[in-house]
Amino acid sequence: MKSKASHRVVIVGGGAGGLELAVRLGRRYGAGVVTLVDATPFHVWKPSLHEVAAGTIDIHREGLSYAMLAHDNGFRFVAGRMTGADRAARQVQVDALRDSDGEEVLPARTLPYDTLVLCLGSNGNFFNTPGAEQYAVSLDSTASAERFRIELLKAVARKGRAGAGAAVEIAIVGGGATGVELAAELHEAGRTLAAYGLGVEAVPRLDMTLIESGPRILGPLPERVADAAREELVRRGVRVKEGCKVLEVAQGSLRTSGGDLPADLFVWAAGIKAPTLLRDLGLPVNAVNQLVVDDRLRTEDEAVYAFGDCAAAPWQGKTVPARAQAAHQQAAYLARVLSARIEGRSPPAEPFAFRDFGSLVSIGHAEGVGTLMGGLAGRRLLVEGWVARVMYASIHWSHYATVLGWWGATMRSLAQFFGRRSRPRVKLH
Ligand SMILES: Cc1cc2nc3c(=O)[nH]c(=O)nc-3n(C[C@H](O)[C@H](O)[C@H](O)COP(=O)(O)OP(=O)(O)OC[C@H]3O[C@@H](n4cnc5c(N)ncnc54)[C@H](O)[C@@H]3O)c2cc1C
Repeated sequence: MKSKASHRVVIVGGGAGGLELAVRLGRRYGAGVVTLVDATPFHVWKPSLHEVAAGTIDIHREGLSYAMLAHDNGFRFVAGRMTGADRAARQVQVDALRDSDGEEVLPARTLPYDTLVLCLGSNGNFFNTPGAEQYAVSLDSTASAERFRIELLKAVARKGRAGAGAAVEIAIVGGGATGVELAAELHEAGRTLAAYGLGVEAVPRLDMTLIESGPRILGPLPERVADAAREELVRRGVRVKEGCKVLEVAQGSLRTSGGDLPADLFVWAAGIKAPTLLRDLGLPVNAVNQLVVDDRLRTEDEAVYAFGDCAAAPWQGKTVPARAQAAHQQAAYLARVLSARIEGRSPPAEPFAFRDFGSLVSIGHAEGVGTLMGGLAGRRLLVEGWVARVMYASIHWSHYATVLGWWGATMRSLAQFFGRRSRPRVKLH
């Protein structure tokens, strides 16, 4: 049903949650009602960023153009970075869009709204560690993951000149799911790079060290899952240092509580914080800049909603975890709340209730490990190996099914499968 409603919903952030919400509302109410703003022109699902960093996903092939998604799903897309909002006037400010040379492509714009939804995601949290922001890459955006990939290729070429036996040392700070997945993905990328040869004297090994300040990797997951992941990583030659705090990052080395560690490349995957611009909206935020929302995902301002990584929503005495799974469920809930708002109906009586289905961690393309919650078992169930990996891939698929439709997502998967036979397995340029 396309609406003639005059209500204007502006969604800022077309990531795991925001894009799904824009698609759900756009299909129903059309571009006159629903506007999506994003700082980038195309969408890559954030849980794939470790694959972008390792080169096993090519953003230029896999990224989905927002302009296409807007056309196919009936919402309006505005390209540009939100810089602030005038809540009294109900307007969002969007910065000018510039090309890589700084030339202005689109001017700064002001977008009026009746309902504003903020889903800006999160950035890496360096916890004021000296040198971290300068020398380490955080996998918090497609651009930073792509930057790491290029640095990796350059390091491989440089070390390759040294002849046989050389290694590119990669320090990954943070033993959560992102750090674990990246270490495993880089291990596979290293084997592929060695097979291609890359035109250097001898392709260096990729030597990974995964550093976790807590007593063990995958802290929030059950010990059995962490043990299985550690075993798998160690089997692949990844050094796992637990209970080791990074004190400083410098060019070529890390100072840690367990001594100095030389490294060519650093990845920071040790925590998140929401974008600082959220502090300037005059709304309550927590210590990591997340907007405080109620159990209806609404801020103190009745016209402003927030969800996903940039929001602190109550859940079991804590806040809803920053996961794609949560953003997906919140998008489905908000679609119902905002439909009622657009149509002038009473909102659904029930609050948002996060349902934890467990966590799956991909360990390369053939292995996975994780837990499933509830369901038939009614308790935690450990899953490992290819079963866990297939389940992990199916979560990825279901995001694309939401935004492209079942048929579109299936065709996309088939195109990827067959395309891989005619392309290098790691992006080499
Ligand atoms: C490597 C990696 C692996 C992960 N694996 C998993 C996993 O297996 N399972 C899981 O549940 N979660 C996983 N996560 C976490 C998950 O990706 C996030 O929780 C999820 O993406 C949050 O969704 P979101 O919509 O809040 O934000 P995002 O998906 O980060 O989207 C935010 C969007 O906002 C846009 N944006 C930001 N600032 C502005 C601005 N000022 N103006 C306009 N647009 C802006 C960005 O361009 C982006 O498109 C992983 C994360 C990483 C980095």
